[in-house]
Amino acid sequence: SSFIKVGIVGYGNLGKGVQQAIAQNPDMELVAIFTRRDPQQLAELTGVVTEHISAAERYIGQIDVMILCGGSATDLPEQTPQLAAMFNTVDSFDTHARIPEFFSEVNQAALNGGNVSVISTGWDPGLFSMNRLLLQSILPEGEEYTFWGTGVSQGHSDAIRRVPGVRAGVQYTVPVQAVIDGIRAGETPQLTTREKHRRECYVVAEEGADRGEITNTIVNMPNYFADYDTTVSFITEEQLAKEHAGMPHGGFVIRSGVTGTGSKQIAEFGLKLDSNPEFTASVLAAYARAAVRFSREGAAGAKTVFDIPLGYLSPRSAEELRRELL
Ligand code: NDP
Repeated sequence: SSFIKVGIVGYGNLGKGVQQAIAQNPDMELVAIFTRRDPQQLAELTGVVTEHISAAERYIGQIDVMILCGGSATDLPEQTPQLAAMFNTVDSFDTHARIPEFFSEVNQAALNGGNVSVISTGWDPGLFSMNRLLLQSILPEGEEYTFWGTGVSQGHSDAIRRVPGVRAGVQYTVPVQAVIDGIRAGETPQLTTREKHRRECYVVAEEGADRGEITNTIVNMPNYFADYDTTVSFITEEQLAKEHAGMPHGGFVIRSGVTGTGSKQIAEFGLKLDSNPEFTASVLAAYARAAVRFSREGAAGAKTVFDIPLGYLSPRSAEELRRELL
């Protein structure tokens, strides 16, 4: 049958989002959620069968695909190869520079286990990567731009929270609108990091902390803020809870190309997301379907969004897709 039995590994923002996404896909059923925390305690939150991650092995044969929702920094490099040896998997590993080595480790584990592992899906990497490839292939002569935001960057938010005197804070990555307008109008500028994005920080300071010093430390922080125009605004705990609780994100991939006799061809893919984790989770659910489909055809090994036919994301038959969507 085409019915898909799913497990979720890790119950953070993404894990919750996947649980909600599965509920929107009638061909999918959630079998269990796996966690490194106390499963009994977490079950009150999940409302479904919740197991310690060490119990995953007992589910071989009962779960068609594990959707891995751990963090990219330390969870997935360990969890994906482990689970790929036992199950088909999907993850959203997003440390771009480490994707090649991650791919080869997961590929080995998945081949050994005879499973399919879709790595690094989501929106970037994921849907944005697909669009970069698509547009580069079609418009070989041109310039390409990826802009992110307006959205919360978890890494940069963590960085400001580590600054002495900061109690809490959130950081938004903001694309520079005038530059985007110019590209949409046909300009093809060479842009520095500073020209593409701004960074806006909203900070709750400890009582008596030196705000000038906090601002200085943030805007001059190497790697995170020094290469950008950064603004720091001080807000109250209440404002933070009321106005900055969401996790919006989004962005654009734009390719501005030239064909034939010099015809200008501009192609763009964009996302505007109220909830980054809920959207990423929805992408993971669709790719879980593709992983299972490949596996049922006898395939094994690691795959990326570049290796997966679009039709495999859909619960509908190829015939139906040709008739209704082509
Ligand atoms: P979270 O920090 O919310 O969750 C990561 C893990 O931490 C969970 O799997 C969970 O594991 C553990 N955890 C979560 N909440 C708690 C808690 N309260 N106490 C203790 N442990 C907790 O990360 P996200 O779900 O927001 O994101 C996961 C990854 O997704 C990110 O690292 C990012 O790399 C990636 N991502 C990729 C995108 C893309 O486009 N490709 C887009 C967005 C995100 P456990 O249950 O085992 O404790």
